[in-house]
Amino acid sequence: MNLIGKKVRIRAKNRIFEGIVMPSFTGNFVLKLENGYNVGFKEYELIEVVEESLPRGDVKRIEHKEGLPNIKIISTGGTIASKVDYRTGAVTSQFTAEEIVSEVPELAEFCNIDAELLYNILSENMKPENWVELAKHIYEALKHYDGVVITHGTDTMHYTAAAISFMVSTPKPIIFVGAQRSSDRPSSDAAMNLICAAKAATADLGEVGVVMHATTSDDYCYIHRGVKVRKNHTSRRDAFQSINARPIARISYPSLEIEWLFWRFRRNERELNLNAKIEKKVALIKFYPGLSSEILDFYHSKGYRGFVIEGTGLGHVSTDWIETIKKIAEDSVIVMTSQCLWGRVCDRVYDTGRYLLKAGVIEGEDMLPEVALVKLMWLLGNYSLEETKKLIKKNFVGEIEPRTDYW
Ligand code: ASP
Repeated sequence: MNLIGKKVRIRAKNRIFEGIVMPSFTGNFVLKLENGYNVGFKEYELIEVVEESLPRGDVKRIEHKEGLPNIKIISTGGTIASKVDYRTGAVTSQFTAEEIVSEVPELAEFCNIDAELLYNILSENMKPENWVELAKHIYEALKHYDGVVITHGTDTMHYTAAAISFMVSTPKPIIFVGAQRSSDRPSSDAAMNLICAAKAATADLGEVGVVMHATTSDDYCYIHRGVKVRKNHTSRRDAFQSINARPIARISYPSLEIEWLFWRFRRNERELNLNAKIEKKVALIKFYPGLSSEILDFYHSKGYRGFVIEGTGLGHVSTDWIETIKKIAEDSVIVMTSQCLWGRVCDRVYDTGRYLLKAGVIEGEDMLPEVALVKLMWLLGNYSLEETKKLIKKNFVGEIEPRTDYW
């Protein structure tokens, strides 16, 4: 049961406590007590919910407007999702459709919104299990809505977007959105990103996109392909960039005009389908000068059979790794990507690369290391090892661009 924002009575540490349940990013159960203090508990027993939800000032009921597209917003947490009134403890923002629309009224001008709070976690706490659960919720929502928007922390948004890209074959837009600055700060990007994301969710698009600020001004957002995007700055509002691809579209603000910039899956081009199985024992290993190949043995001994290496340059590790790679490749898939990020792996230029290929390494083309990781998890969850070795080089959803270009 999701208790956030509810007033509850619990038993913990042999005492009874009453207070409002706060969002917690640590895994502890946090209560705001009557005296204003927050207390965290590792273990507790719920006695009762005293008040279902707190009175929420000026939140109005929204009317459903015939003829407008219907969008489902699924909140998973992160900076964009939560704004807590620390005085009262009330969770005031972006959990119900009414709250979202009273915070961002522009949304009601072009779509009908329904909302669901799935998680309230920072995205560094996302796990593959969460991707699977989210995929199921998105799949259900797509049966009834014209598009889905997922609000998400920015740190690992591109991992989740990649996972959903592989798990859900979609005829409609699935749009991830986050914010670099929370909505209580003057420089917040939350509202504009959300408006552009909702617009993208109504568009002629049939794939997973990530919508974020394209520049440091409030002039337009990009729709990035979910498998070609990465967070490349810790704090700038235009931190997200398409890599080895162009952004799919530009959405001007505040006109919300969409200009298509790249090829895309159109609305209704693909059938709705869910394939959310995943193998978690896949490792992403960043090579650096001096790193011992024992790291491969370690993971292998723990049962890992999928490896993505973030190699140097065109896709290299030092030659003293080759014997270990040869041994491990006998019953594992080893994919080479590049820590350069931009460009394509090619292990046929230098001797090292040629030895690696001989030892069983598979070139990851121009895939981002994180995307290759998620794809390998998904493939190993659904196919045999031998099939996976072939399918890792197959382009499923635009994760591999056939041509290398100077994007
Ligand atoms: N660390 C946060 C997260 O990824 C940052 C954010 O929300 O943007 O959830």
